[in-house]
Amino acid sequence: MLVPFHLSKLLLKYVDLIIFKKSMEQQTQVELKQKLEDERIKILKQLEGVGSKAEGAEDNFNAKFPEYGTSDEDNATEIADYTTNLSLEKNLEEKLRNIDSALKRIEEGAYGQCSNCQKEINIERLKIQPEADKCVECNV
Ligand SMILES: [Zn+2]
Repeated sequence: MLVPFHLSKLLLKYVDLIIFKKSMEQQTQVELKQKLEDERIKILKQLEGVGSKAEGAEDNFNAKFPEYGTSDEDNATEIADYTTNLSLEKNLEEKLRNIDSALKRIEEGAYGQCSNCQKEINIERLKIQPEADKCVECNV
């Protein structure tokens, strides 16, 4: 294909733009992946504080039941702390699952796409919440 000179220049500029945009996106994705991996390690540590790993599963934890003593007061505190551990553990476990599925989406090349409407998720949203799998509109 023969392209007039002034057009070929324009074309090159356009190609440049596409390549530039792509590498920007890749750079952002690398950063977000790093963020997800750091967060994952942090959450695993927190999980080890409130729970113990269930056998056989990497992302399944059981909340710790504390042992303080046998008095009624001790038992009441045990139950109260167990309840706290339990809800913390559930929250952290859910976060961990979301992070894992975001990391999986990165590997599959589907990261940053809304799982509901398939539109691109706003990059600013991903920077704040890199594990998000829905756009703002679908998340309400
Ligand atoms: Zn959506």
